[in-house]
Amino acid sequence: MAFEGLSERLQKVFSTLRGKGKLSEDDVRKVMREVRMALLEADVNFDVVKGFVKQVRERALGAEVMDSLSPSQQVIKIVDDELTKLMGEEAVPLNKAPHIPTIIMMVGLQGAGKTTTAGKLAKYLINNDKARPMFIAGDVYRPAAIEQLKTVAQQVGAPVYEEGTDKDPVEIVKNGLAQAAENKNDYVIIDTAGRLEIDDKLMDELARIKELAHPNEILFVADSMTGQVAAKVAHGFDEQLDITGVVLTKLDGDTRGGAALSIRSVTGKPIKFIGQGEKLDQLDVFHPDRMANRILG
Ligand code: GDP
Repeated sequence: MAFEGLSERLQKVFSTLRGKGKLSEDDVRKVMREVRMALLEADVNFDVVKGFVKQVRERALGAEVMDSLSPSQQVIKIVDDELTKLMGEEAVPLNKAPHIPTIIMMVGLQGAGKTTTAGKLAKYLINNDKARPMFIAGDVYRPAAIEQLKTVAQQVGAPVYEEGTDKDPVEIVKNGLAQAAENKNDYVIIDTAGRLEIDDKLMDELARIKELAHPNEILFVADSMTGQVAAKVAHGFDEQLDITGVVLTKLDGDTRGGAALSIRSVTGKPIKFIGQGEKLDQLDVFHPDRMANRILG
């Protein structure tokens, strides 16, 4: 289960405070040392942990006293608030173009879940916005990627624009956008190639697609199982492409928390959706407060 280790650790830490009267500075210091360890073990980025612990400690030792809460409940509330803040506070909706089509570009490493998430997003838009999306198959390096996108597209009932694997993806995207204009599709979802790690050639290609398509959203798809590495990779993509948001996938697995808790802080970009399974309806809008509650158990 996601966050299981972290949740258990935090609950154990907080249980040591139960029944205590006013907390001493020493109590708070001890608890925060444990919280720090728990977060590091959950693979949260070191600087993020440092900032988080400092913030919680200051608030816990500060004048902030709520009569309705016991000292331990107060610490838990502060941790809850700060975890929520760390993940962005509020849900952030998808950007929408003033005139159709809204163009969404999916980027990320190979295997992160781009194609699956493209399909999920189309389904989400069809269900919630009565959208008529079209996909563009921009991953020309793996024939299997195009086939996978076609399968997904068929399942959600949306067309795919593809030109096989022999053409420059920028050209394909250009032609695809012309097709979407003709068909009056209100959303275009561009699936792009990924690699096992960031490389210049891929980044250059993605930058050229961006320049041509002027996407309203560039969604970085992050595999939450990769922990804080996901945040580092997101940062790399953001530096090159100025991403507009993140989709965190595989939160149905036994992910530890490092990606969810690091990525917003490291990139400054909102997590917009979470993937919670392989099925196409397993995409949810990301709510930082709900995620914090889930982590706290
Ligand atoms: P891409 O290479 O980035 O396009 O990644 P894919 O969309 O092909 O996904 C890689 C694998 O991850 C596939 O087996 C997907 O079924 C799986 N996957 C994607 N999203 C999720 C998710 O939210 N949960 C789980 N359990 N698996 C996922």
